[in-house]
Amino acid sequence: MKSSLAVWDDICDRCGRCCYEKYEYRGKIFYTDTPCQYLDTKTNLCKIYHQRAEIHPDCARLTPELVKAGILPDDCPYVKKTD
Ligand code: SF4
Repeated sequence: MKSSLAVWDDICDRCGRCCYEKYEYRGKIFYTDTPCQYLDTKTNLCKIYHQRAEIHPDCARLTPELVKAGILPDDCPYVKKTD
């Protein structure tokens, strides 16, 4: 049986779009074309996924509250799940 964390992680379809730099302007999030330095842009996977909290503490842990804050693309499966 999978842990609840593994089930939560399985929602991600590994598109990698949320691993690009973003900025907020007037309450809306905008994405740039600049990937996180740890994103493998060929596979769209994080190169340090299991150590990201230690190596890159600015990487936000995805929680239902953060998803509701609007930082993910509208068609991200997490957004659809928490609608
Ligand atoms: S945008 Fe959503 S589906 Fe794509 S990598 Fe990020 S969390 Fe996963």
